[in-house]
Amino acid sequence: MSSFDVVVIGAGAAGLYCAALAGQRGLKVLLLDHNERIAEKIRISGGGRANFTNRDLDVRAPQRHFIGDNPNFCRSALSRYMPQQFIELVQRHGIAFHEKHKGQLFCDGPSQQIIDMLLAECAAGHVAHWQPCSVGDIAFSEQGGYQMETSRGSVKAPRLVIATGGLSIPQIGASDFGYRIATQFGLRVVTPRPALVPLTFGGEAWEPYAGLAGLALPVHIETGSKKERMSFLEDLLFTHRGLSGPAVLQISSYWRPGAPLTIDFAPGTDVATSLGEAKQRSRKRIVNELSGLVPSRLADAWVGQDAALQRPINEAADRALAALAERITRWQITPSGTEGYKKAEVTAGGVDTRDLSSQTMESKQPGLYFIGEVADVTGWLGGYNFQWAWASAHACAQALALDSKADAIMSG
Ligand SMILES: Cc1cc2nc3c(=O)[nH]c(=O)nc-3n(C[C@H](O)[C@H](O)[C@H](O)COP(=O)(O)OP(=O)(O)OC[C@H]3O[C@@H](n4cnc5c(N)ncnc54)[C@H](O)[C@@H]3O)c2cc1C
Repeated sequence: MSSFDVVVIGAGAAGLYCAALAGQRGLKVLLLDHNERIAEKIRISGGGRANFTNRDLDVRAPQRHFIGDNPNFCRSALSRYMPQQFIELVQRHGIAFHEKHKGQLFCDGPSQQIIDMLLAECAAGHVAHWQPCSVGDIAFSEQGGYQMETSRGSVKAPRLVIATGGLSIPQIGASDFGYRIATQFGLRVVTPRPALVPLTFGGEAWEPYAGLAGLALPVHIETGSKKERMSFLEDLLFTHRGLSGPAVLQISSYWRPGAPLTIDFAPGTDVATSLGEAKQRSRKRIVNELSGLVPSRLADAWVGQDAALQRPINEAADRALAALAERITRWQITPSGTEGYKKAEVTAGGVDTRDLSSQTMESKQPGLYFIGEVADVTGWLGGYNFQWAWASAHACAQALALDSKADAIMSG
């Protein structure tokens, strides 16, 4: 049986970074993954350029860009490991990067650079890698710690870190392993659901808009009511099956089945007043006037649905123009569903953070830690999910090192 100070299961963003930091603090670490190719999500992230953090993370309220049933849980780890610390690591490795939009930092070159950087950090910590390596039964005893059967033999360690991520993109190795281990040890799991995911709209109601596939435009999008209301000002993309683009991905994390979305296709424009003024001075058709305010394909789709709007604007009834303005700026539509885990960038829900320490990521089960996406912490689009992976890995590695030191003192 092989023996280590720590076994980290899952060599993605969080697992690689945690293993590296723990190894560099003098711990004997084994990092294992069931996939032959590790960190596949880093490789495909950010369109192949890894949006590895976000400079706009709010220092005073870092939890503002994250969702979870226990919203303040992520605050401690995020405020103890800020984007600047990861940026400095990236700079030390000579990786060139740029800011794209709203604080989002991307590599200039391929995202493989981030994987290589994390592997170099693991090498500096003398981390042992086993992959592909599947893990079977895991047993725990007070004296022996965690003992597990793997496809490369039996392993034991006093501490076990689960970094197996969420359920998104099963075709590159996602699994429910983390949730199963949590349940095995009596921890709660918040029901997982796809997030940062395109939304679908079925049936006849969608037919007038199906021809808009490929159209992208900035919108204001909103869902929920009262305290639960959430909105974003971002780009939206019409697809063959529904809506996507940053605005829709962001709102999807807050959307609940059955709830409508409200979309303003002309944010910052007073469409009702503009159409009213056009009626006074113009004899152009309504669709042509509307095309000055929103993309003409969108104007065609909206005006085309109403016979009363197929005329010059000076002949239109005030009421018809007001109703058109309302539909353009407060379009209400209820998604039929999401594109699911095959297209979701992340999984919301996961190991219930009420059963984890926000300081250390250790669960109520002694010596068992959960980091990264497997926990019920979901970031906004734009580098926040990787920042959570780095910050939770850092908090966990710090705790692992302290606990091991304490063990050494206790054993004389
Ligand atoms: C297409 C796409 C683009 C994205 N782009 C960005 C972006 O630009 N910026 C951003 O911040 N976030 C992005 N994300 C989200 C980000 O990739 C994840 O939030 C992040 O990778 C989570 O890190 P993690 O280490 O918790 O899990 P992962 O990176 O998913 O790693 C989990 C690891 O565990 C392994 N594993 C799973 N099950 C087992 C098992 N049973 N046994 C052993 N090993 C197992 C997997 O093979 C994998 O290597 C993107 C996600 C997707 C899908």
